[in-house]
Amino acid sequence: MDGMTPNDLSHVVDADRAHVWHHLVQHKPFENGEPRIIVEGKGMRVWDQHGKEHIDAVSGGVWTVNVGYGRESIANAVRDQILKMNFFGGTVGTIPGALYAEKLIGKMPGMTRVYYANSGSEANEKAFKMVRQISHKRYGGKKSKILYRDRDYHGSTLATMSAGGQDERNAQYGPFAPGFIRVPHCMEYRKHEQDGAPDENYGVWAADQIEEVILREGADTIGALCLEPVTAGGGVITPPEGYWDRVQEICKKYEILLHIDEVVCGVGRTGTWFGYQQYGIKPDFVTMAKGVASGYAAISCCVTSEAVFDLFKDDTTDPMNYFRDISTFGGCTAGPAAALENMRIIEDEDLLANTVAMGDHMVNNLWALSERHKVIGDVRGKGLFVGAELVTDRATKDPMHEKMVGQVVADCMQQGVIIGATNRSIPTKNNTLCFSPALIATKDDINQITEALDGALTRVFG
Ligand code: PLP
Repeated sequence: MDGMTPNDLSHVVDADRAHVWHHLVQHKPFENGEPRIIVEGKGMRVWDQHGKEHIDAVSGGVWTVNVGYGRESIANAVRDQILKMNFFGGTVGTIPGALYAEKLIGKMPGMTRVYYANSGSEANEKAFKMVRQISHKRYGGKKSKILYRDRDYHGSTLATMSAGGQDERNAQYGPFAPGFIRVPHCMEYRKHEQDGAPDENYGVWAADQIEEVILREGADTIGALCLEPVTAGGGVITPPEGYWDRVQEICKKYEILLHIDEVVCGVGRTGTWFGYQQYGIKPDFVTMAKGVASGYAAISCCVTSEAVFDLFKDDTTDPMNYFRDISTFGGCTAGPAAALENMRIIEDEDLLANTVAMGDHMVNNLWALSERHKVIGDVRGKGLFVGAELVTDRATKDPMHEKMVGQVVADCMQQGVIIGATNRSIPTKNNTLCFSPALIATKDDINQITEALDGALTRVFG
């Protein structure tokens, strides 16, 4: 394994156990086992410290490595760029920063400006700050509230958690920032849990629930609505028919800016460049991170329309009238250099078309499995962004307990297939298995993943 002896690797494991504070784990039980170190990756596959091969059905655990591992051309692009000019921050431009912005905007008709940052949370906070500044500039500070949706997630910082729709993530971190208001989710499969949800036209009804919140709060207090096009960590929630048209009508009616969080859906994951493009959405802000450079470098973008940008430059008599914000590492060139090459790969290898075809194949395989495994209550997805919700009873749709869901994930891992499940902590609603392989996945890869799941479901549930 690339020059590392078993002794070296055992030292790595000890160092990890002694000093790394891992994300999202309870450390005591975690430390009883051996931490898994991912040592190498190529294409869709990764190898751990024991040399065991896994097929990665979650693109680096968190929907990120869209073009797969071991891309030499990205490594070369980053290497060449950082040797030439690695960083310059503040007000200046860089060659890859300008060229990536141009290329990205070419994929986003109606949008014109790219603001660089480092993480999804940070990109979302940039948009929140822009909304707040617009509210001061245009509405005397009044239209400052930001609406967010139950089950949506926008990041781990305190402001983005204030817009966080997953209570299990927010517990114990309050108090949160004021001015963020929650609207109901739009999960058709669980509409029976929502009072008054109709059998027909659920999508329009779900969007109308947003209007109710707007009217309750006062439309003149609401600046923006921030939504994921397809909700990721909250349960892979695809929007119901009619939802987005109605949402957009509502935004227009009350002069509410629309911020689309594409941190997961962005850059090909759903089979179009952006998830919002699946639903005819015309956003004011689009934020993106994970797939922008497929994890080869840290980069995020907050992209706006020219109408938004204009609000920050049209009054030269006001010394405060510019976006008074900076992100130091927004000046790193590794990010846009990697992102440019990432985009070229998606284009040249026709990965959007592959994503659509392989996403359909995966959904079909999962529905086929549901014939044998009654615990699969629902299968949903867009492109290679797929979820299978596990229930104890199809009629009542009672969620499967997270422990059982965890056993399914662990069984797949045992078989060398890494799948995910949305926030398997509290409460038990986190019962959706997630599949988001790299956009290069083949039919054989997808079959290997669903065959492993078949075995795991048989072993766990009989
Ligand atoms: N938005 C969405 C939809 C996400 O799923 C995430 C992370 O999972 C974020 C924002 C936050 O991104 P980051 O972890 O890069 O800050």
